[in-house]
Amino acid sequence: MNTATASLAEYAELGRTAYAMIGEMYPICRSITGKGVRDTLDILQRRIPLTRTEIASGTPVFDWTIPLEWSISAAYINDPAGNRIVDFREHNLHVVNYSVPVRARMPLGELRLHLHTLPAHPDWIPYRTTYYREAWGFCMTQRQCDALPDGDYEVCIDSRLAPGSLTLAECVVPGAVADEVLIYAHDCHPSLCNDNLAALALATLLAQRRALSTSRHYTWRFVFAPATIGSIAWLQLNEARVGLIRHGLVLASLGDRGALTYKRSRRGNAEIDRVCDYIVTTRHAGSSEDFSPYGYDERQFCSPGFNLPVGRLTRTPNGRYAEYHTSADNLDFVTAHALSDSLRACEAALTLLDTNGRYLNLSPRCEPRLGPRGLFNLVGGHSPGDFEHAVLWVLNQSDGESDLLAISQKARLDYSIVASAAAALVNAGLLRRLP
Ligand code: ZN
Repeated sequence: MNTATASLAEYAELGRTAYAMIGEMYPICRSITGKGVRDTLDILQRRIPLTRTEIASGTPVFDWTIPLEWSISAAYINDPAGNRIVDFREHNLHVVNYSVPVRARMPLGELRLHLHTLPAHPDWIPYRTTYYREAWGFCMTQRQCDALPDGDYEVCIDSRLAPGSLTLAECVVPGAVADEVLIYAHDCHPSLCNDNLAALALATLLAQRRALSTSRHYTWRFVFAPATIGSIAWLQLNEARVGLIRHGLVLASLGDRGALTYKRSRRGNAEIDRVCDYIVTTRHAGSSEDFSPYGYDERQFCSPGFNLPVGRLTRTPNGRYAEYHTSADNLDFVTAHALSDSLRACEAALTLLDTNGRYLNLSPRCEPRLGPRGLFNLVGGHSPGDFEHAVLWVLNQSDGESDLLAISQKARLDYSIVASAAAALVNAGLLRRLP
């Protein structure tokens, strides 16, 4: 059996560890390329080994091109009296991410064309990007924007767009088989905690704990890369070997107080879909929903030319909470408790994948004698318990068609009992796992 599960107290501690990691990554100004991503990976790399691949700007990846590398050292707006009213150093969301450099004086009317606010949440700063369109801009609170006096403003964005590279990072934890479980988390958002520092922290802890596990069936591949262009680039580089991916999960937004939400793969009935449906709905009071071609990097993995069995696990999905892509997605918005709960669900799902499988009853003609093999320790006449029921169900259903999860659902028994019954039957020589 896989031992990569922990007690609730241990998961609570891991939730606090994830929260502390988020706090460490929060101040960094990330983008789809550049130093912010690399500095973030340095933090993850203190816990897990990462292999980095730098892809040069200008490299074509499917229908896209690796963009120039963006760096920024300062950005501010001075009002007509010379007061600095917006400063990138105070919050990196103040600058539209990927802004081209600008240094100019302009009247308020012209400046307003470059300002972004959230009228419905007048104290929050929005998160805006201009990745694939040359532009510049500032984000500020509505309250601050409303108070701007007329006059000429001095604006400065000291940024640079130059040939460089896009960084992909991977951690591979080998298992007994070369078949892989892919875990993907995007790492391009600046100071936003739920989207997606929560998943970066949790994927790192999953990899770290996975490496310590004594029993590993699948090889697990953790990929940390920018959203959209990162998964597109990864798929371009790995096109020849995506056939090894048996199951996959995109992790995002796993730290908010909402319930877990699993989004099924495009296939809809892949094993990852059945496993996550089961874990999220029966053990975490969450919900599942069908695939849609909008969201995070599952869009690329589930594009028709790949159609990989890759689902997505979040708590509240993107765009369904007011704090999404705003300065309110901060350290108050995520909780150690939610992180702990998310980690427990991820680990349960991945452990289930590792033990789930189709088995063959090696003594299929009539029931084999279970008592002498220590599998049916009952005084005659007593009703069997869950374990004994699970042994009977596994033997009866293991004709090579049903996997253990299907058997547990048919038998209405918890998966862990069915899995331990299967392990006992394998030990007794009555059952064999099919490849
Ligand atoms: Zn996002």
